[in-house]
Amino acid sequence: MSTLIPIFADHLSHDLSALQFSDKASARILMVEVREEAETVPHHRKKMVFLFSAMRHFAQELRDDGWSVDYIALTDAENTHRFTSEVKRALGRHDIDEIMVCQPGNWRVQELVKSWEEMFDLRVTLTPDDRFISAPAEFEDWAAGRKQLRMEYFYREMRRKTGLLMDGDKPEGGQWNFDKENRKPPKGGMDYPDIPRFDPDAITRNVIDMVAAEFPTRFGTLDGFHWGVTRQDALASLKDFVAHRIQNFGLYQDAMVGGEPFMFHALIGFYLNSGLLRPLEVCEAVAKVYTDGDAPLNAVEGFIRQIIGWREYVRGIYFLKMPDYKDENFFGNRRYLPDFFWTGETEMNCLKQTIDQTIEHAYAHHIQRLMITGNFALIAGIDPFKVHEWYLGVYADAFEWVELPNTLGMSQFGDGGLLGSKPYASSGSYINRMSDYCQDCRYKVSKRVEDDACPFNSLYWDFHIRNEDRLRGNPRLNMVYRNLDKMDAELREALGRRAKYVLDGLTPSKAEDYL
Ligand code: FAD
Ligand code: SF4
Repeated sequence: MSTLIPIFADHLSHDLSALQFSDKASARILMVEVREEAETVPHHRKKMVFLFSAMRHFAQELRDDGWSVDYIALTDAENTHRFTSEVKRALGRHDIDEIMVCQPGNWRVQELVKSWEEMFDLRVTLTPDDRFISAPAEFEDWAAGRKQLRMEYFYREMRRKTGLLMDGDKPEGGQWNFDKENRKPPKGGMDYPDIPRFDPDAITRNVIDMVAAEFPTRFGTLDGFHWGVTRQDALASLKDFVAHRIQNFGLYQDAMVGGEPFMFHALIGFYLNSGLLRPLEVCEAVAKVYTDGDAPLNAVEGFIRQIIGWREYVRGIYFLKMPDYKDENFFGNRRYLPDFFWTGETEMNCLKQTIDQTIEHAYAHHIQRLMITGNFALIAGIDPFKVHEWYLGVYADAFEWVELPNTLGMSQFGDGGLLGSKPYASSGSYINRMSDYCQDCRYKVSKRVEDDACPFNSLYWDFHIRNEDRLRGNPRLNMVYRNLDKMDAELREALGRRAKYVLDGLTPSKAEDYL
């Protein structure tokens, strides 16, 4: 009995269920670098380097561990660049009785894998992806019959299930959530710890050369690649985070500072999502810092909530709502994505800082994604699908199951409020409070309608006027509409004129230029 085990780029875990259920002596692993995936959206070149290099290192580790691995590189002459045809070729090379695949994280790929049984007339076994704390079916049970699917209640279930930060059946410290103590603005003169950087080895250097040659016009710089590409690197990054940054994570997780792309963030999303780290081991390492007395509860609880709360919750939403979720567009937004999303060429300093660091590192932290690029796209009325394609491409941690609910749901309110009770729209004043970006901007955050007024201000009001029929009546927006009602007609008109001027000045992007 011989088994073919295809392993995808986000399944780089040595304890993957498909491996656990297979016999090393007779199984054949298949790993492929396919253009089909690399070209669905313009993926950042550092993201491609990270994933291809991590795959190559993982394949080598499997071989060292005694597995037989067929590895098809992007530039292999025979590579057909599609998963299905590569499986077919592998079946031609080897005498295979069964295909065994760990449940893919992507809905489309999952459907593709299911189709192989009939196509190849072979048994296809999907093994559960037990690297998550909850299974999609468990989320479906939790969601059944609920009017609102609030993350906070799901998170409490996950706390009970894992026992993380629990004192018997009560939450540690007597509260489930310590956010009131978190989310402070940045303080001037703060020092930010250095982050771990890994010198590219020969494998990574080869991948960098390959990506440079194969994708010469693709989005994102290749210079200075410094992310880890192995489990060992990922564990070292986790160790560094718990030693130096978790202590301030909660307090400053929403703060933004010019020239400081990483601050106190963990920088582990891409390790978690590719399988190099496990969520539970990350949370246990962080919880230990609290029990050892080395980090406060507000920081540790805030962090663990992101992983066993938000991360698990968005995956549940994804599988519950796909495939239709992708097409949701509550506001009916149709505007093109401005070209500066790809180039960073804008005089709005908050956007420039966020996009420039995205170009350089394939990374921006949560509040930059939500309240700078996401907020701008929302209030400018950009097509949420275009926004989704951009986020899926540009971040090293972006995989559809986690990116889509965050972008289309949380950030663009495309699902009409399944994920959030109100749109994450803000004027410049929020950005000014939570960052130092406005100090170095050509626009004045205190102005609304003048030539040098912050564009976020007029767009913010224009967004609420434009979408009044959909949003008035939302209890969380009562204050916004009360303020609008008090506004005189002249100011409303001036805001509309200024918003139109800003929107007319946006140049459409040609995503195909970056492919
Ligand atoms: P930290 O800020 O240090 O947080 C620690 C970990 O918590 C993260 O690594 C991540 O695993 C988890 N986490 C935090 N927030 C979320 C969240 N909202 N959803 C899921 N997990 C979360 N995260 C991705 O992993 N992939 C994406 O493609 C992605 N796209 C996003 C798109 C938008 C528009 C927004 C607003 C958020 C998105 N996020 C995404 C969530 C979050 O921004 C990233 O997880 C985080 O910035 C990764 O950086 P970090 O590892 O330094 O995380
Ligand atoms: Fe951004 Fe407006 Fe502040 Fe400039 S003034 S950095 S555009 S919020």
